[in-house]
Amino acid sequence: MKLDDAIAAQKPLVQSLLDGVAAIGADPPGITRDAYGRGENDAHHLIRQAGEALGMQASIDAGANLSLRWAAENPEAPPIIIGSHLDSIVQGGNFDGAAGVIAGIGAVAALRAAGITPHRDIEVLALRCEEAVWFGLGLIGSRCLLARLPAGALELRHARTGKTLAESIAAAGGDSARLSQGKPLRDPAAIGAYLEVHIEQAPQLVEAGVPIAICLANPGNLRHPFIRITGEDAHTGLPHRFRRDAALAGADLSLCLEQLWLAEEAAGRPMAVTIGRFHTPVDRHSLTAVSGDFEMSLDLRAYDAAHLVALEAKLQAIVAEVAARRRVTITLGERSSAAPGLMDPSLMDGLAKAASACGITAARLHSPGTHDANNFAAVGVKTGMLLVRNQNGSHNPHEAMETDDLMAAIAVMTQLLAGRW
Ligand SMILES: [Zn+2]
Repeated sequence: MKLDDAIAAQKPLVQSLLDGVAAIGADPPGITRDAYGRGENDAHHLIRQAGEALGMQASIDAGANLSLRWAAENPEAPPIIIGSHLDSIVQGGNFDGAAGVIAGIGAVAALRAAGITPHRDIEVLALRCEEAVWFGLGLIGSRCLLARLPAGALELRHARTGKTLAESIAAAGGDSARLSQGKPLRDPAAIGAYLEVHIEQAPQLVEAGVPIAICLANPGNLRHPFIRITGEDAHTGLPHRFRRDAALAGADLSLCLEQLWLAEEAAGRPMAVTIGRFHTPVDRHSLTAVSGDFEMSLDLRAYDAAHLVALEAKLQAIVAEVAARRRVTITLGERSSAAPGLMDPSLMDGLAKAASACGITAARLHSPGTHDANNFAAVGVKTGMLLVRNQNGSHNPHEAMETDDLMAAIAVMTQLLAGRW
């Protein structure tokens, strides 16, 4: 069969897998595929069956990730991995993660239907627990694979089951003792390339009227989940000059960070600031008290490691300035960070050529979200990503990716794999 016909012929398979993972996760009004729980486990089972039906070899690694490998003509060449995740947030959408794993299955099915044996092994990887909602830490499957779990991670507890990460991984068929050795499960030098297809988590492709984008980079982040501001409780009649109002200091800090964001973007340095939690103490706040305490969280993201370092210094300066102006103490508290994921230029070119060979217009975009691809890029694996047009954002029940747009990503990836990559 001609390659483009072989690709088009996979739409029913792709649709049935998308419908299959939706049925597994059904939790009206959204989709819940709980990490290391029934939702994620059943989705792994469905994808495993689909891969085995294509003659792929299934295996589970110590992190309980599922690998499906299609042996090629040259077993010595490092394989190309197509990865993503099958877990979701609680009552999220169907496509964040799952679309990428299904794209890998679709690409292998298309190559087989076209009678093409690729130069290298192709491996579809369903990585565990990408979403940070389950353990307060994201990208867990790829962290396990590449020895990038932070200290103490195996003792974190699952938000729903209360089991530790070590117990959860063991129950899903992994080997937590192996993980605690802190060594990569695979040698990064023995991975030929890592490809990931993911829905875009912003409406830039909808705005541009283009089905897919070649990703330029994924953001790294700097996170402070528990920022505390301490001023002084007071009566609502206290004149402004006497106040040490922690709530207004929180507002001031947030608006200064927004100004920083706008200034950086205007200077051509993309980033984002999110204040996800923002409140006076819920157990004692009231209409008639100036609050001496305030709590908030901060997620600051950017696409370049040096930019993140510079932003952290600017954050410190802003904190000092607001604390002095408002006469409060600001404690940033616990800090975590993730490295930005830069995409490989040769893979970006390969994907661009593949897109034009397929007659598909592909934009070039920075990804709004951090993905498992970040961990592969951070250890030096050649990494490429395709973003798929998606209505209504992600992490909500209204995610709306058209299957034809996913088929465009599958076509580009298949075209790339059909070459001598
Ligand atoms: Zn995702």
